[in-house]
Amino acid sequence: MKLSENFTLEELTRSSTADRLGLRNIPTEDDIENLRILAQTILQPLRDHLKRPITINSAYRSPKVNSAVGGSPRSQHMVGQAADIRVANMEVKELVEIIKDLDLPYHQLINEFDSWVHVSIAPDGEKPKKQILHFKRK
Ligand SMILES: [Zn+2]
Repeated sequence: MKLSENFTLEELTRSSTADRLGLRNIPTEDDIENLRILAQTILQPLRDHLKRPITINSAYRSPKVNSAVGGSPRSQHMVGQAADIRVANMEVKELVEIIKDLDLPYHQLINEFDSWVHVSIAPDGEKPKKQILHFKRK
């Protein structure tokens, strides 16, 4: 199922951890609606600007998959409001700057360990808080 021009529900629900551990990773209708908003308001405009493919490391995660990958217990991934992304041959800090400069409606934009960018939309009923964080390995 297409959520936007270049993003499908399948790629936003795929999880190698779920496959490996045999865990279900099936979003609800509400989760799918959130994934659609994420694709249409952030991922697609970013893709259109870059004119290059965006790799989705992880977007929707069921609660079990989320705990299996060590995600936060309040992770927005569990409701389809967040994606971890990369772009080939682009530094993570550069990708963060581009999303910031495009002024996309992100809630949180996190450079996670210079390995990928976590980007989320605002939770239901909230305005995007446009928070930018950099998580570093200890
Ligand atoms: Zn994330």
